[in-house]
Amino acid sequence: MNICMAGAGISCAVIARELAEQGHSIEIFERRPHVAGNCHTERDTDSGVMVHVYGPHIFHTDDEEVWAYVNRFMEFKPYVNRVKATTRGQVFSLPINLHTMNQFFSKTFSPAEAKPFIEQQADLSITDPQSFEEQAMRFVGRDLYEAFFRGYTLKQWGIDPKELPASILKRLPVRFNYNDNYFFHKHQGMPAEGYTLMVERMLDHPNIKVNLGADFTRDMVERYDHVFYSGPVDGFYGYNLGRLPYRTLDFVRSEADGDVQGCAVMNYCEESVPYTRITEHKHFAPWEEHERSVCYTEYSRACGEDDIPYYPVHLVQGDTLVDQYQAKAKAESKVTFVGRLGTYRYMDMDVTIRAALDTVRAWSKATGS
Ligand SMILES: Cc1cc2nc3c(=O)[nH]c(=O)nc-3n(C[C@H](O)[C@H](O)[C@H](O)COP(=O)(O)OP(=O)(O)OC[C@H]3O[C@@H](n4cnc5c(N)ncnc54)[C@H](O)[C@@H]3O)c2cc1C
Repeated sequence: MNICMAGAGISCAVIARELAEQGHSIEIFERRPHVAGNCHTERDTDSGVMVHVYGPHIFHTDDEEVWAYVNRFMEFKPYVNRVKATTRGQVFSLPINLHTMNQFFSKTFSPAEAKPFIEQQADLSITDPQSFEEQAMRFVGRDLYEAFFRGYTLKQWGIDPKELPASILKRLPVRFNYNDNYFFHKHQGMPAEGYTLMVERMLDHPNIKVNLGADFTRDMVERYDHVFYSGPVDGFYGYNLGRLPYRTLDFVRSEADGDVQGCAVMNYCEESVPYTRITEHKHFAPWEEHERSVCYTEYSRACGEDDIPYYPVHLVQGDTLVDQYQAKAKAESKVTFVGRLGTYRYMDMDVTIRAALDTVRAWSKATGS
């Protein structure tokens, strides 16, 4: 079949590769001048540092098939994400662990001592937390919530944490030991030569044609047997029901000699600091050596019409506009909506790859191809 992909991010790259190997002919339209979507990495010409152009990306997964899949196209170097946080004039370790608690409360608790102490702090009257704030109060109590979560979350989402769903905080665990690994997953690593080369290798197949700097528009659907669309679902319909809310990010780039902050990611939790975090890219590749350094200071704000949509905004009370667009998308027979923009949900890279592999299997079964 003649199959089209709208977008050359990880979603469509995986789908394209799988279908190309089945013998289908694939044409990809990507409006940016590069593949890999928001995971795009680029080597800075002056410093030689591998820069995560659309924000820091760390690969982590428990999914063995997905881990084997990415390793097929790129060597992954061991990398453990250890995030630091500046708040109230001190630097702490995140996610909140025994070190964070002991430092914050000036204690020397053992794990067995810290648990009842935190339970005293926590608001256990909240039995079924609905909002981000309730979830945080239930887990860690007011002091830690206000020092680490409230200001950061307000800056990140532009919405009071009372109105954000509890599910957002589930990404940040609390640990009663000194483990400061940000993620729980079995596999964690960085592509030795960046995500973009990994995606280029996925797309390097005689049955795949990639058009860069080329927009896919809805009127092109008729030219193909099927389309996999990884653009914004509301954009596909010309925003005729209105625009879905997104957050966008502004990255202010700076360069310096040496080591600027001593770690890859430093969060700034207080509302009074206008940015959310600073990323120093060379620390994502500890196996490389660079004299110069490239940093991104990250600001979050509501996404305007000409901005890049980064995070879909979900509210506690739900959103009927999302449901309406998703119902329209589901009714399409020649178009499958995929990826973080097509399905309007935050997806880590491993979840994106899992969803892409499952989509191909379901589609191949349904079409008998
Ligand atoms: C700031 C940030 C940090 C993240 N950090 C991590 C992390 O540490 N670890 C992790 O696992 N995941 C992380 N993620 C998630 C990761 O970025 C996604 O899993 C991944 O980008 C999803 O890939 P995708 O192909 O669905 O979407 P995208 O990467 O958005 O790709 C979609 C592509 O389609 C193109 N496109 C859209 N519409 C059209 C059109 N009409 N015509 C032509 N082209 C079009 C776009 O230009 C884009 O290149 C992060 C996300 C963000 C926002």
